[in-house]
Amino acid sequence: MITIALSKGRIFEETVPLLAAAGIVPAEAPEASRKLIIGTNHPDVRLIIVRATDVPTYVQYGAADLGVAGKDVLLEHGGAGLYVPLDLEIARCKLMVAVQNGFDYEGAVKQGARLRVATKYTECAREHFAGKGVHVDLIKLYGSMELAPLVGLADAIVDLVSTGGTLKANNLVAVEDVRDISSRLIVNQAALKLKQDRLQPIIDTFAATVAARRD
Ligand code: ATP
Ligand code: MG
Repeated sequence: MITIALSKGRIFEETVPLLAAAGIVPAEAPEASRKLIIGTNHPDVRLIIVRATDVPTYVQYGAADLGVAGKDVLLEHGGAGLYVPLDLEIARCKLMVAVQNGFDYEGAVKQGARLRVATKYTECAREHFAGKGVHVDLIKLYGSMELAPLVGLADAIVDLVSTGGTLKANNLVAVEDVRDISSRLIVNQAALKLKQDRLQPIIDTFAATVAARRD
């Protein structure tokens, strides 16, 4: 049995065409069925639907052989025990610093002010501000980061931005790039050795599909 860990939403939707290229077709959509284990047209390939932040954990412990996880998630997880052979170039977005419209971020940084930063991405944020020599107090949140500056919880947030629509709707502006984000294929290292004959063709097909999209 080959088990592939995916999160529902954009990662599932953007992985379906890659699976199709490898001849793997899910039996149903996770939203429709609410099932957490989804079969495929291959009797020995199944998908498991887990929280985006949990995908590396399932693969690390071998409960899944393969998984698709955002670089943001991998940076926070640390990536122990994972082989990351491929940038799938899907679910692209940017990790950015954002503040409430009118907040003088540049000025605060220049003055050496101690900034309060709310984020789900504490590891990435810590590294980013340390690299700039900016002192920050990090406040860990698990969602709706956009709210924090509006109610005085934080001066700034570090969050994922794609269109900027959510920032704009909440009177926030992006002031700095932290890094580009896309989703990666992750592989359990032991499974790669034990099931190489079945995993390598999937990895190779994904790689060829991603490369073909580029040109
Ligand atoms: P939830 O939104 O249910 O709390 P989540 O935020 O962990 O869960 P998603 O929003 O589905 O999960 O995000 C999954 C992955 O998709 C993220 O880890 C990130 O890599 C990527 N992603 C998140 N937001 C965006 C976005 N706006 N545009 C493109 N990719 C994104
Ligand atoms: Mg989300």
